[in-house]
Amino acid sequence: TVAVVLFTADLRLHDHPPLHAAVRAADEIVPLFVRDPGVHAAGFDAPNRRAFLADCLTDLDERLRHRGGRLVVRSGPVAREVRAVAAECRAAEVHMAAGVTAFAHRREQRLREELDSIGVTLHIHDSVTTAVAPGAVTPSGTDTDHYAVFTPYFRRWSQVPLRDPLPPPRIVCVPDTARGEALPSAADVDATSPGLPEGGETAGRTRCSSWWGGDLSRYEDQHDDLAGDATSRLSPYLHFGALSPVELVRRARAHGGPGAEAFVRQVCWRDFHHQVLAARPDAATADYRTRHDQWRGEDDAAQDIAAWRDGMTGYPVVDAGMRQLRHEGWMHNRARLLTASFLTKTLYVDWRIGAQHFLELLVDGDVVNNQLNWQWVAGTGTDTRPHRVLNPVVQGKRFDPRGTYVRRWVPELADVEGRLVHEPWRLPRETRAALDYPEPLIDLADGLTRFKQARGRG
Ligand code: FAD
Repeated sequence: TVAVVLFTADLRLHDHPPLHAAVRAADEIVPLFVRDPGVHAAGFDAPNRRAFLADCLTDLDERLRHRGGRLVVRSGPVAREVRAVAAECRAAEVHMAAGVTAFAHRREQRLREELDSIGVTLHIHDSVTTAVAPGAVTPSGTDTDHYAVFTPYFRRWSQVPLRDPLPPPRIVCVPDTARGEALPSAADVDATSPGLPEGGETAGRTRCSSWWGGDLSRYEDQHDDLAGDATSRLSPYLHFGALSPVELVRRARAHGGPGAEAFVRQVCWRDFHHQVLAARPDAATADYRTRHDQWRGEDDAAQDIAAWRDGMTGYPVVDAGMRQLRHEGWMHNRARLLTASFLTKTLYVDWRIGAQHFLELLVDGDVVNNQLNWQWVAGTGTDTRPHRVLNPVVQGKRFDPRGTYVRRWVPELADVEGRLVHEPWRLPRETRAALDYPEPLIDLADGLTRFKQARGRG
């Protein structure tokens, strides 16, 4: 018997329930990845992620070859390709991970229809791309199907028993009838960020080992420190499923201590957003909780938006974050918060414009976490204090007290001493003129006034 395993955002062999189930059920397996043009049409194809994905596929193929198998890559609409492969290889079943986006729902529905028509069974597995499946815990005593507030979700989520991580299969036999195309190569992708990390399960597990082997206690008190680089940088590996969230949480709990606990809490944010989007797929584009309609768009804020994208707002810590994003395809969480707050609350620009720019560059960029974090910051989402506005000067002084992060990413300010690096407009006029760094784009007080008026609190 033959079973197809359709890989999507789960590009690994460790702890892979669909692969595990398929290996138990069938003699031969077709490990399949489909490059669907629908992903491109949905505007979800960006060079940094395309390059990282190519690394992930190459690595997955190598790992399968060590076990006697190989990865089969095809291009075309996913349901059509899976059906064709299943028919060509006479497969009886297809296994895949559950997804939460509207795109994933449509994909599952079409797959079911296509496979039903040829008598092939589709098995969809939970807890592959999240630690706890969306919908596994719901608020008791209410009629809602998901948690809208993080802390009570975290409490319930923490009590859910997680399975033992599954070992990778020892042998994978792929039928000769399974035909695929050449694997994509990261080297063929143009316009990637120069500081992009290497993709793949192997690179992810190596990063994980150094993460667990490092000083995790730093994480608790320094994860907000912009220059400290005290976070795991595992997000791209989690996004592509090169690492298993179940395995990661189990490992962190076994490690114990305040650093590991703080880390588990962050991973829970990921699951939290997944269960929100699973219940409300429209939240990828529509305001989740509170609708606001006075946003500025491309037409009336083109120059402000361009300055923000280019890291030329004149607010050093905002510019540092935006330049890190362009250079590394990744940005520190604190910088994501304050750059997003600056765009949506100080410049009052529609969060969707910022979210789209992030998606064009982030190597971990995903509809679930990006859109819902943007909504959180913009005050349209799950933040219980939607009127908080982050002041970039205060944030800079607090989370980059020595100005190291700013000087690293904004070389024009490299020679400015002390905390004035966060307020270069306070330097003497001649010194300022010699810096070749823009004046502040907006007076923060004006931004706050507009924000309060727009929110009916002015
Ligand atoms: P760590 O601090 O080491 O955290 C460990 C893991 O927990 C991360 O890898 C990530 O998977 C998860 N995590 C941490 N914080 C969050 C969070 N707030 N929401 C969801 N998961 C979290 N994360 C993405 O994975 N993809 C995105 O597209 C994305 N867009 C964002 C946009 C904005 C405006 C903001 C404010 C945050 C966004 N985040 C996104 C969340 C967070 O910034 C990143 O997950 C984190 O910076 C990744 O770095 P790390 O792996 O070193 O994190």
